[in-house]
Amino acid sequence: MSVAYLSGLDALTGCQHAFTDASRELVATSTRGALSGLGPVALIQFAREVEQARNSLAVLDHAIIGALEDTRAADVLTARNVTNLLADTLHLTHTDARHRVEAAAALGQRVTLGGQPLAPVRPYLAERQRAGRVTAAQARIIYKALHRLDGRPGIRPADLEEAETILASHTDTLGPKDLDGLASEISDRLDPDGDEPRDAERRRQRAVHLHDNGTITGHATAELLAKLRAVLDPLAAPRAADVDGRDKRTGGQRMHDALLDACNRLLDTNPATGRGGIRGTVITTIRLEDLMAGCGYATSTHGVRVPVRDLLAEAAHLKFLPAVLDSNGVVLHLGHAARLASDRQFAALVARDGGCSFPGCDVPPEWCQVHHVIAWRDGGATDIDGLTLACGYHHREFENRGWKSLMINGLPHWRPPVWIDATRTPILHHRITLNNRHE
Ligand SMILES: [Zn+2]
Repeated sequence: MSVAYLSGLDALTGCQHAFTDASRELVATSTRGALSGLGPVALIQFAREVEQARNSLAVLDHAIIGALEDTRAADVLTARNVTNLLADTLHLTHTDARHRVEAAAALGQRVTLGGQPLAPVRPYLAERQRAGRVTAAQARIIYKALHRLDGRPGIRPADLEEAETILASHTDTLGPKDLDGLASEISDRLDPDGDEPRDAERRRQRAVHLHDNGTITGHATAELLAKLRAVLDPLAAPRAADVDGRDKRTGGQRMHDALLDACNRLLDTNPATGRGGIRGTVITTIRLEDLMAGCGYATSTHGVRVPVRDLLAEAAHLKFLPAVLDSNGVVLHLGHAARLASDRQFAALVARDGGCSFPGCDVPPEWCQVHHVIAWRDGGATDIDGLTLACGYHHREFENRGWKSLMINGLPHWRPPVWIDATRTPILHHRITLNNRHE
């Protein structure tokens, strides 16, 4: 360990302690009473300065992310990438973690291969951020707009630079919505070329996000939008009046129900591809006590909580395949949908593991392979006590990275290499731990 490294560490630790102490003192001093004494104008000024300090801390995030990339931390700690590493270790949503990594790429200080410092990709915006004059949301709007313009035919580096300067100079006066409007206006002026690039842009931006709170967001391509309309509009039409009177659902509610009907139809068809019936079925796990009582919640393999009452009603149509777990997380019983032995085993693994069982991995079961805990060549059996689900990445990589898989009390554990944990204590995925908890 070099002297330079040690003194760098000392300096960092010293600053960090001073920062923690100062911010604690600020929080302690800023009681409600002390702040009310400031009066409205001084109070807003105070809030603005706190916000500026918060804004400029983003620069520290960029530096940390840059250093994580330089040291290949994701590889060493067997995370898929830095985004997943941040999400897992800092308990961020995946979206927040991704935004931080993207911001670091656009606004963080870069270094050459030889270690020489290099200006950020968006130097003017980065400078404003360092001064605390750009919020994370404003920064994102600007670098996303510039990224969209970058590489379009006819856009010169000087155009991008000018657009960056104009947008960044408006962060003191424009909120995110107006800034986004200004960005669109600048884009339209620099790139007035009709719809063709915009269609390409729409293809590039395509995304659908299903959030755990039930919100659905995203950008559909023209093709998907047209096909969704073709499928859903007829299903979403108001029902003819029946004995209950006219259809009282809102337009939004009808569209929701149309989407649900479309999903049910897809699930009913049970395509004979892949795992056939299993893939066409929502596998849920349910605790024996809840099933007996007909109350509580079952959990689908995607983590959606389904009321047991709904599950029992739907089970007859085989849209849900309930797997009953005892209080140790051991599969007691599977619903009727499983026909083949391999399907049954897969379903039992899905019920027990719920996805890749490697600690911290969030890959769902559909994308997992069946991993033999005792490798085939060493005489492993295809009993589920010797199997676990692992995503392709962890299935291929864990051994090279010094991890070992083992079963303890019928549950799949992973033993870390000594450089991650000197005691090499086996780890059980928190998802399985939660399934397995006693209440
Ligand atoms: Zn995995």
